[in-house]
Amino acid sequence: MLNKVKIFLFSDALGYEIVQHYKFMLDEFPVRLPVRTQFGYSSTCVPTILTGEPPTRHGHFSFFYRPHGMKSPFSFFSFLHPFLHPSLVFDNHRIRHRLSVFLQRRFGFTGYFNLYRVPYARLPFFDYCEKQDIFAPNGLAPVKNLRDVLTESGVPFHISDWHLSDDRNIEIARALLEEERTEFYFIYTAGLDSMLHFHVHEPDVVAAALDAFAGKMRALLKTARAHCRDLDFCIFSDHGMTPLKGSVDLKSKLEALPLKFGTDYVVSYDSTMLRVWFLKPEARKPILDAVAGAPGHWLTPDEKSALHVDFKDAAYGDEIFLVDPGIQIVPSDMGAKPIPGMHGFSPDDPDSTACFLSLRPLPEKPREIADFFRLMKRAAADLKLQPA
Ligand SMILES: [Zn+2]
Repeated sequence: MLNKVKIFLFSDALGYEIVQHYKFMLDEFPVRLPVRTQFGYSSTCVPTILTGEPPTRHGHFSFFYRPHGMKSPFSFFSFLHPFLHPSLVFDNHRIRHRLSVFLQRRFGFTGYFNLYRVPYARLPFFDYCEKQDIFAPNGLAPVKNLRDVLTESGVPFHISDWHLSDDRNIEIARALLEEERTEFYFIYTAGLDSMLHFHVHEPDVVAAALDAFAGKMRALLKTARAHCRDLDFCIFSDHGMTPLKGSVDLKSKLEALPLKFGTDYVVSYDSTMLRVWFLKPEARKPILDAVAGAPGHWLTPDEKSALHVDFKDAAYGDEIFLVDPGIQIVPSDMGAKPIPGMHGFSPDDPDSTACFLSLRPLPEKPREIADFFRLMKRAAADLKLQPA
């Protein structure tokens, strides 16, 4: 039997509002804290949790960006796109998925890669930020990630493989617990995120999914308790899920202007934010004005700085328009229709708040999701201090 085991279980989108509303595992986890999310999507939040650093330091925000001196990996689409017109059958979801898989292999990208619905003609204007597996050694270099820190600590650890299913990841962790050699666990799960995107508005479906998830957590807890004397088990998330309140078509507003994409401006339509780069200074005012009346606002320099997205080279846009909580940009480069739930709103939105659940109080209370990294680092140091 091991002396100490520390388990950190990451559950994508298990927000504080949801765990409290559905009383998720209230009996096992008396320590329940709201934790401020990082503005952005999981593509920003997960690197923040894995490094304890803000996006301006780890460099990951939204997938499509325009870093200084960029050479787009998608430049060949400039020649190809007339043959891949969106009206053609080539643009259907399955073809795009296959194309994403093909390009991922061709470029040797090891991170999460998806072309989503970015029109082929627009791809040559962008680079893609998650080319590397962010969980791998040096995956977020030059910043150290969780794997780098745990490797240096010398503590026997396990980090789940994000390519695998939640059930498989939980099963692997259970088998390792039974072996009694691994002391530190970072278990990755993402199933609740996809469920909540489509069912957040259906209490019965959410309750049943949370019950099923709790059952898996209880089984894991039972195994962990049987194989160590002193257990820390925490469940935490990167953000919550905000129910749909409405949608706004910003694309039509921009396309109605006498301006041309690629000549006057470049734009990326995320689900909750519009990011624009001005190629000609005179394009700025008409674009800012065209969007100004929509439900949301252009982020001020002070807001960008407070949200840690004031990138020095404007890699993620000269200006960012953020919609109000619950509003979705439709159509966007992510989807053609609104869906019941979304994240990526202001961190002040209560539905966006992440959660931290623990069996017992820890030495420090996490206040923002970057603190999870410091908590895990401290836990590894604590394991290291044990007498052999
Ligand atoms: Zn999601």
